[in-house]
Amino acid sequence: MEWRRIRKPPGECRDANLVDYEEGVREFSWDKARGQLDGLPGGGLNIAHEAVDRHIVAGHGEKHALRWIGRDDQIRDFTYSALGAAINGFANVLARRGVSKGDRVFSLLGRVPELYVVALGTLKNGSVFSPLFSAFGPEPIKARMTIGEARVLVTSEAFYRRKVEPWRRELATLEHVFLTECSGEPPEGTMDLSAAMADCLAAFETVRTAPEDLALLHFTSGTTGRPKGAVHVHDAVVSHHVTGRLALDLKPGDVFWCTADPGWVTGISYGVISPLSNQCALVVDQAEFEVERWYRTLEREQVTVWYTAPTAIRMLMKAGADIARRFDLSRLRLIASVGEPLNPEAVAWGAEAFGKPIHDNWWQTETGGIMISNFRAMDVKPGSMGRPLPGVAAGIVERLGDGAVREIETPMTKGELALRPGWPSMMRGYLHEEERYRKCFASGWYLTGDLAMRDDEGYFWFVGRGDDVIKSAGHLIGPFEVESALMEHPAVAEAGVIGVPEPTVGEVVKAFVALRNGYEPSESLRKELLGHARRRLGPAVAPKDIAFRQNLPKTRSGKIMRRLLKARELGLPEGDLSTLESEER
Ligand code: ATP
Ligand code: MG
Repeated sequence: MEWRRIRKPPGECRDANLVDYEEGVREFSWDKARGQLDGLPGGGLNIAHEAVDRHIVAGHGEKHALRWIGRDDQIRDFTYSALGAAINGFANVLARRGVSKGDRVFSLLGRVPELYVVALGTLKNGSVFSPLFSAFGPEPIKARMTIGEARVLVTSEAFYRRKVEPWRRELATLEHVFLTECSGEPPEGTMDLSAAMADCLAAFETVRTAPEDLALLHFTSGTTGRPKGAVHVHDAVVSHHVTGRLALDLKPGDVFWCTADPGWVTGISYGVISPLSNQCALVVDQAEFEVERWYRTLEREQVTVWYTAPTAIRMLMKAGADIARRFDLSRLRLIASVGEPLNPEAVAWGAEAFGKPIHDNWWQTETGGIMISNFRAMDVKPGSMGRPLPGVAAGIVERLGDGAVREIETPMTKGELALRPGWPSMMRGYLHEEERYRKCFASGWYLTGDLAMRDDEGYFWFVGRGDDVIKSAGHLIGPFEVESALMEHPAVAEAGVIGVPEPTVGEVVKAFVALRNGYEPSESLRKELLGHARRRLGPAVAPKDIAFRQNLPKTRSGKIMRRLLKARELGLPEGDLSTLESEER
């Protein structure tokens, strides 16, 4: 099936931040983008200042910055001034203990207001912030805090007792532990965060950080192997700000909901920094995904821009478009998605359920910000990630024998997605992995490790992760196209596709499929799906085998772990599973 291009009538999007893509690209420079920010009085650049303080200085302190919705629907609101005061409190807590520029501050917290205060307070103090996903067990926490040489940890008393106390003494760098939700006297060697902050309510002068000073340490999702620690600098805020404006169409006063957990890069770059720097109001929901709750939140909070992920969209699809239509979502101006390829089926479903398509965009922990995107005022080609952000040069390259790469100019040819370095939020290294970092660059390109194609209009099409791509009888097959074809069948909720070694053709395609509610696995359904895929894809690309699964293994950030499907299929070691989501869900 050919997916229809979704046209954006010019009149409809006249108020978009990026109305004319070509002109936007022509006019863009990173210096101009930097000029949209303040910088520190007297020189320097600090993310916390750009996100919060500059709005207060400009007289917008009473605007809404954050609405926190508790699991039990309790609400806490913060204006920019209130958030700023709390941030000062935490920055003072750090400074009074001698925690300073470059020191690593980790958080292990659920989606609670303290997390936002700790992240920005750390940056304001010139220290380096690293968020840990709260569902991690003791081992992944210890491994990341060891790599990151953590000096400070902020966590809840319950997490501390279960996940940190057992090994705390083994990490000599860890000096200060602050606890939230303390039930009484804090355990030995820790402090109650609220008590510590109560003593520290004074103003705080932002530590003078230079644009190239370290600010953030983010670990990758571990989809392809052991997670890497990517480091980012304060200059990244230039990318966060401008990509939020252009790709997410953020404007002052927007109500913005980023559903990514702040334990991952998306939840910090776009769940905290970008929307605040654009003077938006954040919505933060402490609770886990639940179909009706999410729609209710979109309706009640009058969310205008919603940034979510394919896994969530697929779960909403599973529940049906009728539920979406029961809610008044008329305030929604833009829906965007990131983290995994967004199947064309999902883009079209968005148009059916919300009256507007879902805008896919692409980036990775290493790039620190959105690199390729569908834009509000640009036609959407379902299944495409869109076009490079102004200021970002992307290409498709092939690796040559001598370690160099060459750009492939022919449209719709599969190759590695590469970017010309030079945007501010690019990682400055993998912590303690110099060699690995160096290998990401060749012939003036940053090599992303993903395969993609570019069409003759400059739209990019995701093919698959380098490691997931299947080579069968001379064809390079991306799991994404096979998964998308399977998803078009009404019985299929989710699909994960791998290559299984086979002596004559190299690899054959095998699919693992989770069914929608109301469908049961059976031999006849298996045959029907095989037939459907063969009709859609042709015999060379269609799966030779399909297996049903209740759930597919995913990372905690919601990505299908094809390498694990493959290891299990072949009886090979499962590798690093620290980011594997529990599979019962
Ligand atoms: P690791 O590098 O540890 O294996 P990871 O690559 O999943 O983990 P992230 O940096 O969180 O860690 O994810 C970035 C990757 O996610 C991209 O390189 C790409 O493979 C995938 N991705 C993100 N957005 C999209 C998208 N819109 N379409 C297709 N793939 C995407
Ligand atoms: Mg990666």
